[in-house]
Amino acid sequence: MEHLVKILIVEDEPKTGDYLRKGLREAGFVVELAQNGIDGLHLALEGDHDLAIFDVMLPGINGWQLLDTVRRAGKTFPVLFLTARDQVEDRIKGLGLGADDYLVKPFSFAELLARVRTVLRRGRPAQEMTTLQFADLELDLIKRRVTRHGQRIGLTAKEFGLLELLLRRQGEVLPRSLIASQVWDVNFDSDTNVIEVAVRRLRAKIDDGHDRKLINTVRGMGYVIE
Ligand code: CA
Repeated sequence: MEHLVKILIVEDEPKTGDYLRKGLREAGFVVELAQNGIDGLHLALEGDHDLAIFDVMLPGINGWQLLDTVRRAGKTFPVLFLTARDQVEDRIKGLGLGADDYLVKPFSFAELLARVRTVLRRGRPAQEMTTLQFADLELDLIKRRVTRHGQRIGLTAKEFGLLELLLRRQGEVLPRSLIASQVWDVNFDSDTNVIEVAVRRLRAKIDDGHDRKLINTVRGMGYVIE
């Protein structure tokens, strides 16, 4: 028997909430819906959800606070944010707090469903995953060890954090501002040189001497492992 996947939705717009609940139930999920942040928090803390969908602008507790509180309480289920605000800072803020994905309203249900499935796929093995891999590059999260083609590569703590982020989000172009907030815990507004230098050093350690270059720069956008 397939495990029933439980999804918590916290959305204050009744129409959107009902629409999501109905659609996700039809797609075979068990769905709980809360219409404000307080009820959402209670459900999140009591339940054993596999995934949550939080609207950002909520009465009571907003989506960011909700996520923050839930994470502090030790809940690790993946969280997908819904928001009408499509600013980059919001995306970074959400991802910095440990959101797993972000969907800007208005969105189609098909798009939401695709994101839900991706996050669930990504989320489940991640709980047991102790190594991250791309091509012949391997990062062992427990032993804090990196190898390429079986050869050990010594990294600083920041380089390790940077590589871990790139590997976790492999195939995605990560902007410098995101890397700064995730790996350095700060926002570099003017001086993004720090990131460039770190990436250059990391790339030298990972890619020098190999024909296939794994860490790539996308000009004006950021960095990607692919
Ligand atoms: Ca709202």
